[in-house]
Amino acid sequence: MVIAIDGPAGSGKGTVTELLAKELNFTKIDTGAMYRAITWEVIQKKVSLEDIEKIKEILCNSKIEFQKERVFLNQREITNEIRTKEVSNLVSQVSHIVEVRNAMVKLQREMGENRDIIMEGRDIGTNVFPNAEVKIYLDASPEERARRRYEQNLEKGISTTYEEVLENVKFRDHNDKTSNVGPLRIAEDAVIVDSTDLTIEEVVETIKKIVEKKEKKENAKC
Ligand code: C5P
Repeated sequence: MVIAIDGPAGSGKGTVTELLAKELNFTKIDTGAMYRAITWEVIQKKVSLEDIEKIKEILCNSKIEFQKERVFLNQREITNEIRTKEVSNLVSQVSHIVEVRNAMVKLQREMGENRDIIMEGRDIGTNVFPNAEVKIYLDASPEERARRRYEQNLEKGISTTYEEVLENVKFRDHNDKTSNVGPLRIAEDAVIVDSTDLTIEEVVETIKKIVEKKEKKENAKC
């Protein structure tokens, strides 16, 4: 089974996906972390976003791996590095380069082969797995999403102000929704869950019920 969780920055996808993956025993894949890893490498190598040949080279030479919550690029751990301001400010642009999107989508489809996965991102239900059995669009107000990101940053020791985070959330919303490449859209058959006034536990329960209903339906077909 594929569970697709899409939604804007800070809607709670990461936390909810992690909890659901544990409860349902599914493999969790954070596609945002994959775009962040490529962005980090682009910054390290000081490659211009116009230089498609160099970007293609990075794509060919980058092996992204997950070990639970940890992210590795060519065996170097970059779990914290991909959450910095520099990466957050550039990732939208990098993720909307056609070559980057195509390479990541291919990789994401391969990662989903022959196993139960829960994948979070922007275009999972619409583009990566249009036939996903369960599609959730997780939303919340920009202010609430910025507040959550700001608190996460504080916990991780990343220094930002609330205003900076809100500005980045709005900037990325705009970029993600208006992009020609893998835009953030609500799939026709997605269930919209607004988490603004819900606790994480309530969101997880809501999605679990949707998954259980789907499983019952699938089993009834046999
Ligand atoms: O989920 P997260 O906020 O870490 O994602 C970082 C960025 O990667 C997003 O703002 C978006 O620009 C891009 N992204 C994307 N498609 C995905 C996942 C993330 O374009 N499936």
